[in-house]
Amino acid sequence: MSNPASHKNPLADLKPVGEEPYLLTPGPLTTSARTKQAMLRDWGSWDDDFKGVTAEVRRRLVDMCDGGDAYDCVPMQGSGTFSVEAALASFIPRDAKVLVLMNGAYGQRSLKTLDYLGREVVALDKGDYLPPMPSEVAEILDGDVSISHVVIVHCETSSGILNPLKGIADAVIDRGRKLIVDSMSAFGAVPLSVKDIPFEAMVSSANKCIEGVPGFGFIIAKKTALEAAKGNSHSLSLDVHDQWAVMNKTGQWRFTPPTHTVVAFLEALIQHEEEGGVAGRFARYDGNRQILISGMREMGFETLLEDRWISPIITTFFCPADPNFEFLRFYEEIKDRGFVIYPGKLTVVDSFRVGCIGNLDADVMRGVLAAMKGACDAMGVTSCAPPVEALEQRELQNQCAA
Ligand SMILES: *Cc1c(COP(=O)(O)O)cnc(C)c1O
Repeated sequence: MSNPASHKNPLADLKPVGEEPYLLTPGPLTTSARTKQAMLRDWGSWDDDFKGVTAEVRRRLVDMCDGGDAYDCVPMQGSGTFSVEAALASFIPRDAKVLVLMNGAYGQRSLKTLDYLGREVVALDKGDYLPPMPSEVAEILDGDVSISHVVIVHCETSSGILNPLKGIADAVIDRGRKLIVDSMSAFGAVPLSVKDIPFEAMVSSANKCIEGVPGFGFIIAKKTALEAAKGNSHSLSLDVHDQWAVMNKTGQWRFTPPTHTVVAFLEALIQHEEEGGVAGRFARYDGNRQILISGMREMGFETLLEDRWISPIITTFFCPADPNFEFLRFYEEIKDRGFVIYPGKLTVVDSFRVGCIGNLDADVMRGVLAAMKGACDAMGVTSCAPPVEALEQRELQNQCAA
């Protein structure tokens, strides 16, 4: 049996609802009271009321990228990764060859998924700091006409880099190849229109920039691609074509939907519209980013990325070199002050990440800056400057890129 200490009720000593720490994380994230309130009702998944919710969610998502009649939206149970796997398995024929553009953990995850799926893959790996460039993609595609699909991460959440999607999309589509975009952490806050970027399929999820709670992802794809996907998937539960066909026929999800999450998501979509849609959401996140970065730099912290690649989604900072700095203590000190930050996900240097997304505004960002200052003071950290090696490495990478 498990040890008795593990029987302590983890819900017993929580702060009251409304006083929990803000999540400065890339999802799950802090949601509004209205969104949480929407989950108080139970729904029958077969009922017309719930079917209406699903239809409205799909319609609003297609509208968000100007999908019109040519595109459709297929929600899929599970976290975002389930939807990425579903899309890769469904839209890439079994005998096709794929180019995966990688500059962090999520690109690597797509590569790993394609390995599981047994697809033939070519990878362009740019490490942690740099975006794949359109010219590199063009060169690879010109050199190998058997590559039919290109997979790209829009905002690589592991570093916070916003990849140059438009230039890459042009390189891919001009060459008659198909583009699959993981826009998980950007869709809803960074503009993405099929008029500009006619992707084959795009994947995102409920708990990122639209500020819903976790439980499902969604795929927006060309209807022609959804038709053509029939028979490609190795998996029944992840078959996007089947989910789409059944949903269009019956209005229902094939298997139990996360009903409360779907309803909360519609409530989140309505708030997104009230805020001014994608432009309004971008403006708030961008304001959050500016307050965060200027405040952190004033304290002596350095960002991993050069300004031109920093997304309004999440920013990576180097850990200070000061021997008194210890990440776990820093994390706890900040949490005690009411904010949760995120550990780094880099392969080479120590770092941490601070998100700008979720139901957060300028006051929250100023609060987290004060919490960081308090945490450094409590630990006796006198300089927030990173180790020289970190800066040298950043410099070197940028020179290679130039
Ligand atoms: C969050 C995220 C995912 C999916 O992650 P899950 O933990 O499965 O929800 C995929 N790609 C990117 C770029 C992400 O930010």
